[in-house]
Amino acid sequence: MILPPAILGMLGGGQLGRFFVSAAHEMGYRVWVLDPDSHSPAGLIADRHLVAAYDDYAALDELAATCAGVTTEFENVPAATLDYLAKFLSVHPSASAVAVCQNRIAEKTFLADNGLPHGPFAVVRHEAEVRNAGAGLFPAVLKVARFGYDGKGQARVANPDEALHAFHQFGGEACVLEKMLDLDCELSVVLARDEAGNVRCFDPCENRHRHGILDVTIAPAGVAAALIARAREVAGQIAGKLGYVGTLGVEFFVCGGALYVNEMAPRPHNSGHHTIDACVTSQYEQQVRALCGLPLGEPRAHSAAVMVNLLGELWYDDAHASSTYREPDWSVLHAVPNLRLHLYAKHHARAGRKMGHFTVIGDDAEKTLAAALHGRAAIGIRDDER
Ligand code: ADP
Ligand code: MG
Repeated sequence: MILPPAILGMLGGGQLGRFFVSAAHEMGYRVWVLDPDSHSPAGLIADRHLVAAYDDYAALDELAATCAGVTTEFENVPAATLDYLAKFLSVHPSASAVAVCQNRIAEKTFLADNGLPHGPFAVVRHEAEVRNAGAGLFPAVLKVARFGYDGKGQARVANPDEALHAFHQFGGEACVLEKMLDLDCELSVVLARDEAGNVRCFDPCENRHRHGILDVTIAPAGVAAALIARAREVAGQIAGKLGYVGTLGVEFFVCGGALYVNEMAPRPHNSGHHTIDACVTSQYEQQVRALCGLPLGEPRAHSAAVMVNLLGELWYDDAHASSTYREPDWSVLHAVPNLRLHLYAKHHARAGRKMGHFTVIGDDAEKTLAAALHGRAAIGIRDDER
């Protein structure tokens, strides 16, 4: 067991890393963050911020010499970095698990090979594979295999010609072409798994996206009990097959009443932010516990919760972020009962950038959702098209 005052290493300095640092600090650990951005949200509150690239081996040697364990908040950390660090100290999740989740081709292949439910797709690495994609796949979404996030690196395409055009727009990079599904809703499961294989699952949530970016998370999801049970089961199977240790997020599509895995995140997940305010143990504390070999905490929710993301366009009067820059009036949110505001201290807001979120908790799911949507409108989030 890694115990305080040990130093933990975090690869990545975003908001997920920032919440990990907070959780680790509360538990008595110190944290070093590696992130090339000198103003990263996690780096700002870390005990030490190594401002260096993820493949800077001098910085990795410093981490290895000082930290008792290393984890990540960022799926695009090179697998070679995790493998290198694992020679010296415990690294969770493993390079092999991260490698599956950071490449859509590896991810889809993993799902297919393990008989896990997923939507129809084709791997496209060459023009010919785009042209030969079956007509039944269209309308479809073309997604770059690596480095896409928040709907970036994706194009909706109606037919093979449009797919070919988008494939060229993405520079001919390897992609997956997915059938566009008619979604009933989207769910996610966040879970933690320890080295002994124990799994603790948070209640599945419903996620509402806008322009390909998570907008609202409703916890717990108000869908049929059988779907909830199936989502937990599939997420647990994924964690087991990956030999996963740490906090894992699994995104699902619900389509025609059936469940399909969309993608996995080898880290805490945006749809698990509410666990800070609504659960006995947060997804970030679970990440600390799994990394350090402590028994996993109780994931039970003590309240219903609704989380709303605050994106960079809120700092502007128009949704295109082309008007005057000004701080939103946070007093409006603080006036909403049972609302907790979390801001990530990012230095500059731009459209689509995740700047913060708020969570409303309550006893009653419907009233909690109404209060959160009230706060969302009051702070100025509009539903018009960008
Ligand atoms: P990201 O890495 O940006 O989260 P996703 O693959 O999860 O990428 O896509 C973002 C969102 O776009 C999804 O949550 C969903 O709302 C929508 N989307 C993506 N793929 C599909 C699909 N095949 N059918 C329907 N909607 C999709
Ligand atoms: Mg996603």
